[in-house]
Amino acid sequence: MELHHGRHHAAQVAGLNAALREHGQLAAMPVDDLLMRLSQVPEAIRTAVRNNGGGHANHAMFWEIMGGQGGEPAGDLRAAIDRDLGGMEKFRTDFNAGGMRVFGSGWVFVTVTPAGGLAIVTRPNQDTPLMDGQRVLMGNDVWEHAYYLRYHNRRADYLIAWWNVLNWERIGARYAAARDGTLRV
Ligand code: MN
Repeated sequence: MELHHGRHHAAQVAGLNAALREHGQLAAMPVDDLLMRLSQVPEAIRTAVRNNGGGHANHAMFWEIMGGQGGEPAGDLRAAIDRDLGGMEKFRTDFNAGGMRVFGSGWVFVTVTPAGGLAIVTRPNQDTPLMDGQRVLMGNDVWEHAYYLRYHNRRADYLIAWWNVLNWERIGARYAAARDGTLRV
């Protein structure tokens, strides 16, 4: 995780800053706004902004939702999981299956609507549902760099173990923020 944060994520932050060096107006935008307006980014830097900006947003979310003890959520978020994702057991199974279906590098996410509706989606590379104007409640990184040092090629084992370090208090706060319209990356 130190390598993941200090090298992989850091390289994307540096890459985004480098791409935007000559574009002060874009550099001043919050990264979620930038990703929602990729079509307005000059073509010469659009791919760099997509990959590095997406990577920054995805990893910022990723670090925020971990560092906990796992377990299960309560309250409104738990009710939404039961309503939209078929309960915790089906949620974990479907989310992990989504992570296994990503061919090569990418992410598995839970998106959240302003009304609190949840859905499991996947994206390749460093793409994010933010690019489609959606909000991300949580997500797991299934790039090999996320698990190769400890789990080697066993992505399935990594996906299962990841639930043990989730911080449901933080994810619950993100859920409340999504419904308040204040959730960003
Ligand atoms: Mn990563």
